[in-house]
Amino acid sequence: MISGHSADYINIHSHKPVQNAGQVTVLNLSDHFEQVSLHPLVSIGLHPWYISRENPQKVLSQIREYAIHPHVIAIGECGLDLLIDVPLLEQEFFFRDQILLAESLRKPLIIHCVKAFNELIRIKKEMDVTVPMIIHGFNNNAAIAGQLQQHGFYLSFGKALLKHHSPAISQITQWPAERLFLETDDADTDISRIFEAAAACRQTSPEALRQQIFKNFKHVFLHE
Ligand SMILES: [Zn+2]
Repeated sequence: MISGHSADYINIHSHKPVQNAGQVTVLNLSDHFEQVSLHPLVSIGLHPWYISRENPQKVLSQIREYAIHPHVIAIGECGLDLLIDVPLLEQEFFFRDQILLAESLRKPLIIHCVKAFNELIRIKKEMDVTVPMIIHGFNNNAAIAGQLQQHGFYLSFGKALLKHHSPAISQITQWPAERLFLETDDADTDISRIFEAAAACRQTSPEALRQQIFKNFKHVFLHE
């Protein structure tokens, strides 16, 4: 298990297996789960976009099988997306199943949420979820950020920080440091650029931000 160093750039969500020096990357796999053995830090899950694509029950049973692997430090990305054709009830079924899995393994959840924040908060309350829930790629307004903060979510910010006047830029300035993560997702951007942008928004140094996020990472993902 790579536990990293406080000077490292921690990237909690990437679809690319980046192995640069001074960087710690959590690789997201949505298929070919046997690859978990090749990467030290991995998240695995059934993305709502893929529910209709393949045999989702089969994927779910593979996720259950591989989730116990020590390299798998989070379940996801999984969640809810109101812009796709899959009915919400069906999405909720698969999401709840992965929440139960995460709870049983005491692993955090990396969440994809598009226009379904009320539903997300309702499910968290109904299921009394105790593992950390990290909403990845956050780029929404202050009202949503406020609700998510109140309900104990973590936020991960990424490429939206590099755009001018994005909601992410306004929201990262006031989001609590101990609930903050950064990521590259599917972008070809280096995680150091995301850290520089985030540090500039928060008027702190990239070094201080690296230390804070390393601390958050150890706490949430490595249970230290
Ligand atoms: Zn992603």
